[in-house]
Amino acid sequence: MEQRIDRIKKQLHSQSYKLTPQREATVRVLLEHEEDHLSAEDVYLLVKEKAPEIGLATVYRTLELLNELEVVDKINFGDGVSRYDLRKEGADHFHHHLVCIECGSVDEIQEDLLGDVEKVVERDWHFKIKDHRLTFHGVCHRCQENGDSEKKNQSPEKAINKVR
Ligand SMILES: [Zn+2]
Ligand SMILES: [Zn+2]
Ligand SMILES: [Zn+2]
Repeated sequence: MEQRIDRIKKQLHSQSYKLTPQREATVRVLLEHEEDHLSAEDVYLLVKEKAPEIGLATVYRTLELLNELEVVDKINFGDGVSRYDLRKEGADHFHHHLVCIECGSVDEIQEDLLGDVEKVVERDWHFKIKDHRLTFHGVCHRCQENGDSEKKNQSPEKAINKVR
């Protein structure tokens, strides 16, 4: 964790920003909750435990700065709430998300899987891909295991078609 904070600090410095104690507290919360997809308000409540004097506006500005510097990615799962997701180190593109329509859980796929699709888009649309967002909506394996027989017979593909 300290090494990652160090690298983020250097990233900020290279763009002439300082890792102030308040920014550092925000980064620490993001690292501690790396698997979660926190809204600005979630982050604020957690940062407040470490730095009670901090305000929501400061946390919000820090998150926007981190987004600009590509330390975090901003994502919206269709509920109108912006969430902040720490960018995985060394990843060229954003990871994919599996959003469960039953329990609301969000799982991540770190593998890109889109190599062939990206080739077609770049070739046929002459579009240089820099990044992408891919969110699958469906029923997670946990809900499928816990579900009643009706849900058990429902394939994940059907569930995805049901939404959007
Ligand atoms: Zn994520
Ligand atoms: Zn990709
Ligand atoms: Zn679920």
